[in-house]
Amino acid sequence: MTTTGPAAGFTIPDPPSDAAMGACVHCGLCLPHCPTFRELRVETASPRGRLHLMRALGEGRVEATDTFVEHMSLCLDCRACEAACPTGVKYGYLMEATRAEIQARRPRTGFAKVLGWLVFKQLFPYPERLALFAGFLRAYQRTGLQQLVRATGLLKRLPGKLDEAEALLPRISSRFFEPKGSVPPRGALRKRVAFFAGCIMRVAFAETNRATVRVLSRAGCQVDMPEEQICCGALHIHSGEREQAKDFARKNIAAFEQSDAEWVVVNAAGCGAALKEYGELLEHDPVWAERAQAFSARVRDFSEAMAALPQEGAPPALNAKVVYQDACHLLHAQRVHQQPRDVLTSIVGVNLVEMRDGDRCCGSAGIYNLTEPEMAERLGANKVENVDQTGADVVVSANPGCLIQLRAGLEKRGSKTKAVHLADFLDAASRD
Ligand code: SF4
Ligand code: SF4
Repeated sequence: MTTTGPAAGFTIPDPPSDAAMGACVHCGLCLPHCPTFRELRVETASPRGRLHLMRALGEGRVEATDTFVEHMSLCLDCRACEAACPTGVKYGYLMEATRAEIQARRPRTGFAKVLGWLVFKQLFPYPERLALFAGFLRAYQRTGLQQLVRATGLLKRLPGKLDEAEALLPRISSRFFEPKGSVPPRGALRKRVAFFAGCIMRVAFAETNRATVRVLSRAGCQVDMPEEQICCGALHIHSGEREQAKDFARKNIAAFEQSDAEWVVVNAAGCGAALKEYGELLEHDPVWAERAQAFSARVRDFSEAMAALPQEGAPPALNAKVVYQDACHLLHAQRVHQQPRDVLTSIVGVNLVEMRDGDRCCGSAGIYNLTEPEMAERLGANKVENVDQTGADVVVSANPGCLIQLRAGLEKRGSKTKAVHLADFLDAASRD
């Protein structure tokens, strides 16, 4: 570790290198791609401005004041700037390191501390506890208690942003998804894959997980589902809980090493980006660095897997006008653009159209719609308007956060367009 230069002021165990911190040449080519800059038109809401502030923090020229934290919090970590940058600034990595540094200097206090402890340390590391908690939420949603609580306005009187969090609760699945054992291929074996089940996906998109496994099996895959897998840690990384995320990464790597499947398939864009970056997350860990690189090299988004396994036999068919919504962590972080479109156009009867500003974030961005509700609302409204203008019957996406945001926005707008995961759409179109 260097003792001088831009990153010298960082106190976290793995600070960004001086070279990474100083890579921005201030050309401004990223600005038109940044959703917050496009909305607010101020330099501090731009990638270039935020990079300047991060560097100043590293050099000790600014402190992690409330204002500094606000500028960092407003960033969606959508990484549209990273994809547009001609000099290859690793913006996502730098933002995540900066958020970890903020956590190190200004640990949460009061209600935020209790909530952070509960969510990050007590729920997400333990799938069985998360399932128990989701079971309570399901009962809350199905027994009429939810309507009662909403009618009384009780949540508005409690601390934090509980009312906003509650309004965004996804519908909890009737039956959770538990990864276990293997599903054989239908027909001849073409590929061995292992499936990453996620944590929100298991309890709120369990049917999508089942559809993913069915589609992979139909495509000739043996699907291994290591039981010891846990949360990917994406939410932790984005919230500055980097050391906890490293612990998750080690556990997941060990779990998937038990399967010698060629690919680890994931159907949530945020999880996929985190898994593909385990190599980077653990690069300074002498025991795990190599294993992390090997694991990340096996990770494929569901659309990448399906595009590489062209249909054998009768092609899927479903008559629908479809618009595809790129999840930021698939488009910008993983640079997966064409594969989901190829999968959709391989379905007989699909008329695939594009929306205006399709590359802009929908405002979901992990827990952004809780931490920055105003900007999330603006971006979400823009997105559903652009979806609606296409006149599509279905908007297909591949990330739980985007689907929750799209469904809420479309319902609010009174739109008839349905928001559906790519795996569910392909499953519905498949013919056995
Ligand atoms: S981040 Fe990249 S695109 Fe943006 S100003 Fe810096 S060098 Fe230019
Ligand atoms: S990650 Fe997204 S919101 Fe943040 S600076 Fe880059 S483009 Fe803007």
